[in-house]
Amino acid sequence: MARPMVAVVGRPNVGKSTFFNKVAGKRISIVEDKPGVTRDRIYTEVEWLSYNFTMIDTGGIEPDSDEIIPAQMRRQAELAIETANVILFMLDGRAGLTSADREIADMLRKSKKPVVLAINKVDTKEKSDYFYDYYELGLGDPNEISSSLGLGIGDLLDEIVKHFASIEENEYDEEVIKVAVIGKPNVGKSSLINRILGEDRVIVSDIAGTTRDAIDTPFTHGEDQYVLIDTAGIRRKSKITEDVEKYSVIRAIAAVERADVCLLVIDASEGVTEQDKKIAGYSHDNGKGLIIVINKWDLIEKDTHTMNEFTKTIREELAFCPYAPILFISALTGQRTNKILEQVKYVANQNAMRIQTGTLNEVIGEAILLHQAPSDKGKQLKIFYGTQAAVKPPTFVLFINDRELMHFSYERYIENRIREYFNFEGTPIRFIYREKT
Ligand code: GDP
Ligand code: GDP
Repeated sequence: MARPMVAVVGRPNVGKSTFFNKVAGKRISIVEDKPGVTRDRIYTEVEWLSYNFTMIDTGGIEPDSDEIIPAQMRRQAELAIETANVILFMLDGRAGLTSADREIADMLRKSKKPVVLAINKVDTKEKSDYFYDYYELGLGDPNEISSSLGLGIGDLLDEIVKHFASIEENEYDEEVIKVAVIGKPNVGKSSLINRILGEDRVIVSDIAGTTRDAIDTPFTHGEDQYVLIDTAGIRRKSKITEDVEKYSVIRAIAAVERADVCLLVIDASEGVTEQDKKIAGYSHDNGKGLIIVINKWDLIEKDTHTMNEFTKTIREELAFCPYAPILFISALTGQRTNKILEQVKYVANQNAMRIQTGTLNEVIGEAILLHQAPSDKGKQLKIFYGTQAAVKPPTFVLFINDRELMHFSYERYIENRIREYFNFEGTPIRFIYREKT
């Protein structure tokens, strides 16, 4: 099951960022820690009780945007309705209801999506003066919280996770490969999708498990079943203009969440952008298969080194996902586009690959022989054995003597050895450590 998405909607200054920071768990750091990468937080992983979910903040549009607030809020709400499983509608308990609040409430109510009402800035035990007004929004009981003091947050999270049980999911059968085509506007995503869905593919409507969501496109190619996930509103050109970069990143995140394999489309004439890094980072952090597609290759003047130089730059820009294959294509001319589905299938299989414990331990044992494990203050790291605990992404549990001794560089070395033997091309792999003595 895809991780539930919860979107926070509300007027500026009601306390969305404060709340967000309060509940923010592990911040997605791989991309954010790199110099030059903007640190605006769009989403965070939240762990509450036995639930893990992604919370996205639809607010926080640049202050110099000359948009009037109601229009901005309408767009936030549309985005939340489109991408989230549960919407958290936040209001200011000291300001009372405004007409914009009522308008948003109408939209949310009509969407039939589960909505949880949070009344923020209730810093004392007293109820907000406006407490009973909130019922008139028709969105259920108001939950009073104080984000700055951390009051009522647990009860609010309880209300949110209650809705997860009733999430209607587009669950496809295990063998159906779910593909998300992501990337900035105008890089050629729709052109590529049209290529992929070209003559020899059959678009079907009766793939096992297919449900109502009209924006997914199921199709078969040979014996294989695929679904194109289109939360990005690529094919159905979205009503909302994508002038705010943040909105298209949120859409992409929602698509990645449901995918097995992501095709990150990059315009060859433009190179890797900040947005590409964010989306690739999300794919990486969520253990998805990833293929980098350099499109509009026909526009590039080439000599024998061009492809290598391009590859080098991309590897530097997207240093956290060296495993992702890079394809140079032209959706316009069809150059190499026929290779894409083959790659998608391959990467999906790599992402779901399970290796034998015996072979894994031979590889680990050999790796240790070739390159001594690090030691500190006379104590040496011991890796007793490893086993693969999960797929999608491949996750290995290593039993070691002391977690402190497992340095990043040695983990990277072990990872590289494992990749040399088993490939795992196009997929991140993860390690979990268990100490034993
Ligand atoms: P956003 O625009 O919705 O993201 O709102 P912010 O999180 O930036 O908060 C706006 C202002 O409200 C800031 O000055 C916060 O310190 C303040 N604020 C946020 N939460 C609370 C709260 O629970 N109680 C009080 N008294 N102030 C709060
Ligand atoms: P999307 O917004 O990412 O879906 O991009 P589109 O598929 O709508 O393409 C944007 C523009 O780029 C259109 O004018 C396409 O004709 C053009 N385009 C797409 N792929 C290629 C390509 O491989 N080469 C060239 N030269 N143009 C392309």
